[in-house]
Amino acid sequence: MMTQVQGEGSGANPLRSICIVGGGTAGWSAAALLARVLRGSGCRITLVESSAIPTVGVGEATIPPIFDFLRNIGADEVEFIRRCQATFKLGIQFRDWLHCDHAYWHPFGNLGVTINQRPFHHYYCRNLAQGHGESLADLCPSVALAEDGKFAFPSPDGNWPGGAVAYALHFDAGLVAAFLREHAEAAGVERLDRRIVGATRGEGERIAAVQFDDGESLAADFYIDCSGFRGLLVEETLNAGFEDWKRWLPCDSAIAAPTAAQQQRAPYTVATARSSGWQWRIPLQHRTGNGLVYASDFISDADAHEELLSGLDGEPLADARVLRFTAGLRKRAWVGNCLAIGLSAGFLEPLESTSIHLIHTGLNRLLDLFPDRGFDPALADAYNRDVWREYAHIRDFLLLHYVPNRREGEAFWDHMRSLDLPDTLAEKIELFTRAGRIMSKQRELFSDISWFYVMHGMGLEPAAIDPLVDVAPSAEVRKVIDQLSGAMKAFRSAAPTHDAILERLLDPSETR
Ligand code: FAD
Repeated sequence: MMTQVQGEGSGANPLRSICIVGGGTAGWSAAALLARVLRGSGCRITLVESSAIPTVGVGEATIPPIFDFLRNIGADEVEFIRRCQATFKLGIQFRDWLHCDHAYWHPFGNLGVTINQRPFHHYYCRNLAQGHGESLADLCPSVALAEDGKFAFPSPDGNWPGGAVAYALHFDAGLVAAFLREHAEAAGVERLDRRIVGATRGEGERIAAVQFDDGESLAADFYIDCSGFRGLLVEETLNAGFEDWKRWLPCDSAIAAPTAAQQQRAPYTVATARSSGWQWRIPLQHRTGNGLVYASDFISDADAHEELLSGLDGEPLADARVLRFTAGLRKRAWVGNCLAIGLSAGFLEPLESTSIHLIHTGLNRLLDLFPDRGFDPALADAYNRDVWREYAHIRDFLLLHYVPNRREGEAFWDHMRSLDLPDTLAEKIELFTRAGRIMSKQRELFSDISWFYVMHGMGLEPAAIDPLVDVAPSAEVRKVIDQLSGAMKAFRSAAPTHDAILERLLDPSETR
């Protein structure tokens, strides 16, 4: 029996039905957002997932635009934090990446203030070159708070230093999917717990229907493939193809092992370099997420498991499981009447917590290019070009964390130092090491200051000062820096601890 999902439709040729395949973070994000945007349109949304097929479930760290998504689906931030065992994240501390016993920060939020219309990182570099001793924590509020285990919401007046704080969340991915499901179902999304065994193709590159293991099928106008790495529709049915970036990002495996919650939950992620990859530590309210991301060409699963256990604070609460992946993306995420979102669209290792963000930018891009039943191929082409640019930008940023390492004599790290870089990254490094310029493009995720934090953290230094920066007299800049670091001292000592803020938020009688 075939069920035709049909809505009423009000425009000339609008979509009447959408079928979302998969109920992980991607599927339920798509369902929650589309249900909200399409409410009242008559378009029916059905999500099919199989409770017998587990989700990946390890996406625990996010970046600041997560709050845009929560707003877009109409979720309450505080309720989300309570329900998803979330903690605040001010950035990432990278340990041992440049060499052992070295650490640096990639915080969210700004460094210092603009002087003479030039970004502050130039003055910071000049200051360091002149032998002055300010650290990032004196001039970046998110680092100051993170170092002290404290947290503060950005001050609404936007003034420095409180206005320069930016933050994201750590959360329990399973609880997030449940939260999003509740939102989506309340907004009218229908959920089917069925196992899909395949899909039939219609004319051209169109999906006609998805088929269930009980012989029934479901037809819709548009399909969103959120089935995870396998790409049930986009790859197995439509053969979109995969662009493999393993030659740049050789990590292809991960083992996750949660441990008990920290006594004092740190307001940041820790990413520690290990022999053939890196280890994450993500503090949640009720537990700590840990995992090792590694390159299986350089270490066996058994040795990776040992390495993970040797780097844990405490006993694992569950059996560690190995996940496999390949860095890269579908050659076409949008094919005909099917769009891949989430792991089915591509994956870049979780070093900068970008995957859930890529789900949300994919959905926003779908809204920007929303099709009708004519399926103009120009929309899919525009989508696919844009998503490639977005992935390439993130790939370059991830590579930057590895390439300048000084961990000589370790096979994996030697290999990462000797990579043939994408031109886009080589040009960026050259521009910065000449005179501190970065030149991010407008719609790119990582802005100049993020590039600066990682370039500086990984030991790259400009050989010369930008001539416009040299226009500002050193003594005046010195005065500004003294004022900033003075204000920072007062700010960081007045801020409450991260745990105190969480307790206040979790107390149901309190509101922020
Ligand atoms: P999945 O979670 O795999 O969900 C697939 C869904 O499809 C499931 O519901 C399944 O039941 C369904 N399905 C599959 N086949 C069928 C079928 N035949 N019939 C019916 N249903 C089917 N992202 C971040 O942003 N931050 C992080 O810190 C982070 N850490 C990560 C660490 C690791 C090691 C990995 C591998 C990923 C990490 N990610 C992270 C990525 C994040 O986990 C994913 O982006 C996110 O979970 C989305 O997954 P998904 O919904 O696309 O796929």
